[in-house]
Amino acid sequence: MSKYVFITGGVVSSLGKGITAGSIGTLLKKRGLKVSILKIDPYLNVDAGTMNPFQHGEVFVTDDGAETDLDLGHYERFIDETLSEKNSITTGKIYSSVIQKERRGDYLGGTVQVIPHITNDIQERIIRAGSGLDVLIVEIGGTVGDIEGQPFLEAIRQMAVRAGRENVVYCHVTLIPYLEAAKELKTKPTQHSVQELRRIGILPNILVCRTSHAMDIGMKNKIALFCDVPQEAVIEVRDEPTIYNVPISLHKEGLDDLVLKYLGLPCDNEPDLSDWAKVVDRYMNPPEEVKIALVGKYVQHKDAYLSVVEALHHGGIAHNVRVNIVSVEAEDLERSNTAEILKFADGILIPGGFGERGVEGMIAAAKYARENNVPLFGICLGMQMMVVEFARNVCKLHEAHSKEMNPATIHPVIHLMEEQENLKDLGGTMRLGAYPCDLAYGTKSAQSYGTLHITERHRHRYEFNNAYRERLENAGLKIAGVCTERDLVEIVELPEHIWYVGGQFHGELKSRPTRPHPLFDGFIKASSEYMRNRAKEA
Ligand code: GLN
Repeated sequence: MSKYVFITGGVVSSLGKGITAGSIGTLLKKRGLKVSILKIDPYLNVDAGTMNPFQHGEVFVTDDGAETDLDLGHYERFIDETLSEKNSITTGKIYSSVIQKERRGDYLGGTVQVIPHITNDIQERIIRAGSGLDVLIVEIGGTVGDIEGQPFLEAIRQMAVRAGRENVVYCHVTLIPYLEAAKELKTKPTQHSVQELRRIGILPNILVCRTSHAMDIGMKNKIALFCDVPQEAVIEVRDEPTIYNVPISLHKEGLDDLVLKYLGLPCDNEPDLSDWAKVVDRYMNPPEEVKIALVGKYVQHKDAYLSVVEALHHGGIAHNVRVNIVSVEAEDLERSNTAEILKFADGILIPGGFGERGVEGMIAAAKYARENNVPLFGICLGMQMMVVEFARNVCKLHEAHSKEMNPATIHPVIHLMEEQENLKDLGGTMRLGAYPCDLAYGTKSAQSYGTLHITERHRHRYEFNNAYRERLENAGLKIAGVCTERDLVEIVELPEHIWYVGGQFHGELKSRPTRPHPLFDGFIKASSEYMRNRAKEA
């Protein structure tokens, strides 16, 4: 059986529990342990698939097609492992499975209750996610004291009984606020949230304290005394200039040694963090800067394009340039002069999205980039709008916008396939998860990937309409990638253009700080070239 690190949060949300979980994962993996991370989201949605990006940020998709919380993206980037459906549980998922079992009569007429039925189901999923591992890290979303979180906290309390106290570590991420008027850090909120945990029978072993000011030994001693942990288990975490420095800082604070000690695992080998140090150095001190316009429809929410933003930075790290991402509200391009708004950009990225709002602005951005030879990278909806723009303005295919079609298609060159049409009343079906794709030799995509066979993750309903393929190809659009299993166009390019690549999939989901996604790598490379050429001309 695996050992477990449970991560809870106190005082306020957004303290970086996900980054803490990812960082502990990195540090343990660097010690040679087999690790993975499970996210528990106490909300009632069965998965993140139906959640609005404005409220909840990006939906992260795994290879097996699970639509999950964006923290899974952090985990994959930090521990460099591919996660799956079993790495994400929600209250909705647990309750639907328990209710299904009840309807089937699995409980033999017994009264079905939160304890033990819900808590058992939670524990079984935790154990399943940990099978075959040395350590499973489990992050419980929300804050201690939330009503929704209680069954999960009870379940992880019981895990110490089930797995053995020596196989479980409780790590509480909390806030030590600084009071400007008193010029003092305050420990009371942390004392209260630890009391709340102890009230339900969880005694945290480690306190990860987020603070804006340095904590002295006296402060650490005070927290240790009031919260009943040794002083070495009070870990200070200051705001970092980049999240990729967090594993390094936590290691300096001795967090990984502590976790290993509590779990009875050897901790004599130092983790080699040189690749993370290099990532941080290149992120912090690059000699040049490229400006990328992110033309999206959810740009006001900072996490709506989280993986895209990270993948752009990974490209910057690889090419030693700072990537200055400037959000451009797609709808603004519908009202004003596109060229005027976009002329600052060394590269334009149009990310994924749903619904009709903003698509005309994306089409305007695609036209501007195509006509002015500005690097352009379209992802999912972005790729679809590149195809619509090309069909309209290059092929002069001005097909009427059919009323029966879903308005989001804009032009029949992007359509719902026949089998989905039949399911339209149910909202159609989405192509979700990993699909293999064959690349055309000699294309920018093939050069970037360095192979002709790739697998990428999808999350969309609409597809390139093959009825238009020949006409688009004759007009110069290169079909650079096609789905191996079905005859579906996955990548379009313009061979003469500096970098005009649109992909039906979400490459950003597979990018890593030390290994940028090939198309993000290629896009940042082209944008850097464009930036240098512009500087020369100026
Ligand atoms: N709305 C488009 C579709 O469903 C694109 C989806 C996306 O960008 N993820 O096909």
